[in-house]
Amino acid sequence: MNATVGHFIAGRSLPGYGARTAPLYNPATGAQTGAVALASREEVEAAVAAAKAAFPAWAVTPPLRRARILNRFLRLLEERIDELAAVITAEHGKVLSDARGEIQRGAEVVEFATGIPHLLKGEVTENVGTRVDSHSLRQPLGVVAGITPFNFPAMVPMWMFPVALACGNCFILKPSERDPTAALLMAEWLKEAGLPDGVFQVVQGDKEAVDALLHSSGISAVSFVGSPPIARYIYATATRTGKRAQALGGAKNHMIVMPDADLDQAADALMGAAYGSAGERCMAVSVAVPVGEATADALIERLIPRIRALKVGPGTDPEAEMGPLVTKAHLDKVRGYIDQGVSEGAELLVDGRGLKLQGYEDGYFLGGTLFDRVTPEMRIYREEIFGPVLAVTRAPDFATAARLINAHAFGNGTAIFTRDGDTAREFAHAIEVGMVGINVPIPVPMAFHSFGGWKASLFGDHHMHGPEGVRFYTRLKTITTRWPAGIRAGADFVMPTMN
Ligand code: NAD
Repeated sequence: MNATVGHFIAGRSLPGYGARTAPLYNPATGAQTGAVALASREEVEAAVAAAKAAFPAWAVTPPLRRARILNRFLRLLEERIDELAAVITAEHGKVLSDARGEIQRGAEVVEFATGIPHLLKGEVTENVGTRVDSHSLRQPLGVVAGITPFNFPAMVPMWMFPVALACGNCFILKPSERDPTAALLMAEWLKEAGLPDGVFQVVQGDKEAVDALLHSSGISAVSFVGSPPIARYIYATATRTGKRAQALGGAKNHMIVMPDADLDQAADALMGAAYGSAGERCMAVSVAVPVGEATADALIERLIPRIRALKVGPGTDPEAEMGPLVTKAHLDKVRGYIDQGVSEGAELLVDGRGLKLQGYEDGYFLGGTLFDRVTPEMRIYREEIFGPVLAVTRAPDFATAARLINAHAFGNGTAIFTRDGDTAREFAHAIEVGMVGINVPIPVPMAFHSFGGWKASLFGDHHMHGPEGVRFYTRLKTITTRWPAGIRAGADFVMPTMN
């Protein structure tokens, strides 16, 4: 077994000083591989103190120099992508190609953040009044925290910290306790790239560490990505303690398939979107909405053989398309949803519960699962399952399909497959979801746009990375300047009007 995964505080890797730890497992074998330290309030406060000490010098470091450090980090990420991917696969379970994919998407945010000298440029207006000028600038917030989920242990932290650091903040990352090692590697590589001690730190932990961050007076802002109830809790607590907050929660992403769509293309798109990473993606499609009975029958006819042919295996198997679920508890939860779907009356067309892999009998594997005739009242429709389970909800026409999506509590991502521009345009215009795909099943915005859902998928005002990320991690200052002669001529007691 490996040693206990510890923290990265004030530029040093540290074992936890507290006694509390959590076990780590290899999801493909079910074997315990080590443990992770769970930070106490004192350990969190040590990180906050180191960040506060580092902040003044980092905040005045020219943005171009901050960008150069991120550039060096980017090169290290590219050189060592296989090392980081192997760590992710060992702890999370996803297939190696998918782990490399998430690092690539995260690295694109680092690339975006290296443009920070341009992104931080403010606005100037000459002569807002006679011989009076105004300019605005964006300044860092101070020490900010990121609390991240298990499903993207490299990419989701990289939605946050490259932008936060580039803007001049110090960042404390509290990764998921289920796959904590990727964060530590990134901390070490940032230091190697030249980042001063205390500017980026990692505290491992659970609720105790999160609550210590939320209640620390030294933290100015909190970014969170995770499950719906915790997102709500983080947003409410962080804002109550006076912090800026963005909390991205759950999802139930629908994909409408119109009768005029290329059904082979739609079925292929659904396979990757529903079963990639075993459905443990916040942008996974979990509900297919074929329009019309004939479309539904034809789509299902194409899906069933594809699902049966899915190659499920350990993430290290280059042939595998889908790895195990992250933990035994999560496997049991997803299996429970399949049981629930059956008892609620949905039609189970492909059942992944019987899957057994020779040599990996104790791994957390579940086969691809397909339900038909899922209705909006069912729990398997309303709740996020976060596993390889696709529901088909049939709709008689486009308007009904769109109403279904707009009535759902979540609004993270959605897609439509059609050849008709007018329907696609109407969909993009009227749908109440933050990220929309037209013949694109997983419309994750690129790093220079911003990522975020609507409704219960995001609490807060700002999406992540892109221009919204820069706004979230900075505060605006507007300066009005007059250099006239005779400014000391006397006091004005009326409201300034800039005539
Ligand atoms: P989770 O909510 O269990 O954990 C997320 C983080 O919160 C972890 O760091 C965890 O340690 C911490 N945490 C857990 N319980 C807590 C508590 N009671 N108090 C304080 N902190 C707590 O989520 P997860 O299972 O790791 O991740 C999967 C979830 O993340 C899914 O719901 C998925 O949709 C969501 N997600 C959403 C997006 C998005 O963009 N909306 C992206 C990725 C993942």
